[in-house]
Amino acid sequence: MKFYTKYLWVHTNKIRDFINITGDVETALKESGISDGMILVSAMHITAGVYVNDAESGLIEDIEKWLEKIAPYNINYKHHQTGETNGDAHLKSLVTGHEIIVPVTNSKLDFGTWQQIYYAEFDGQRDKRILIKVMGE
Ligand code: ZN
Repeated sequence: MKFYTKYLWVHTNKIRDFINITGDVETALKESGISDGMILVSAMHITAGVYVNDAESGLIEDIEKWLEKIAPYNINYKHHQTGETNGDAHLKSLVTGHEIIVPVTNSKLDFGTWQQIYYAEFDGQRDKRILIKVMGE
């Protein structure tokens, strides 16, 4: 079994943003030379998420609104007693999850028609990293 590791850097202009990183993961897969296996994609942060879903812009707005309803921004979370202001971002990260596994078959992401990989930033405007680890033969 071979392993290939790559780090993506992200720096969003907005506090919250949704970035389609499917192409970056495909590039890492090509670089790895692996044709059968799986890829771990992980946000290396506790205020961001990685998920698989549709790239439809209306749905992305729906996801953002839904997360805002569950974990509203700028509320007096206990976490803020430490001087932090990103309590909502931690909670949003828990809802989306921070990592995914993608199957690889015949040198391609073995996805359904509409599946895309998203990095969800909930506390941006600074440098963040995403880990891509390709495993297989
Ligand atoms: Zn925090």
